[in-house]
Amino acid sequence: MGGPEIERLIGLLAKLPGLGPRSARRAALKMLQQPESRMLPLAAALAEAARAVTPCSLCGNLDSRDPCAICADTVRERGLICVVESVGDLWALERAGVHHGLYHVLGGTLSALGGVGPEDLNLSPLLARVGEGGVREVILALSATVDGAATAHWLADRLASAGVTISRVAQGVPMGGALEALDDGTLAAALRARRAS
Ligand SMILES: [Zn+2]
Repeated sequence: MGGPEIERLIGLLAKLPGLGPRSARRAALKMLQQPESRMLPLAAALAEAARAVTPCSLCGNLDSRDPCAICADTVRERGLICVVESVGDLWALERAGVHHGLYHVLGGTLSALGGVGPEDLNLSPLLARVGEGGVREVILALSATVDGAATAHWLADRLASAGVTISRVAQGVPMGGALEALDDGTLAAALRARRAS
């Protein structure tokens, strides 16, 4: 129906998280019916974001500037680093406004079964950041999975001699759930009630 352009558009939209073929068709139709007001601005925003946004060389956050706005913010507490698995987790913590220090995005967790080793994650730059001094506490905000726990253990082990407090977010992070799935109140409680590990 409608030609290869429409099929291609629907196919690409259907690959986005949260969109199956059915919602992709609805989104495509909505855009095609209002090309000037919906489709062209979206196309321009996509191209611009693809061109401008890169991972922050310090923390791994995504931003159009490097260092990112969070790393460059002099008001934030620089001695406090919250370690998260994904940029989505960082965004969730920022939305909740519960962390006023810096972040470090690992890009996943260690996984013996999944074949993910330390060299596959953004781990060495974190050890280097702590090694440079000035860091007082590292908060491990990793999910309560076997892999999340293994990653937290690995990091706590490597940072043990660095003279920094290592803490973990408290219960409330559901098994297998990412931080971004939590509501703001639960996130705030989990971060406030963190324990030294
Ligand atoms: Zn950054």
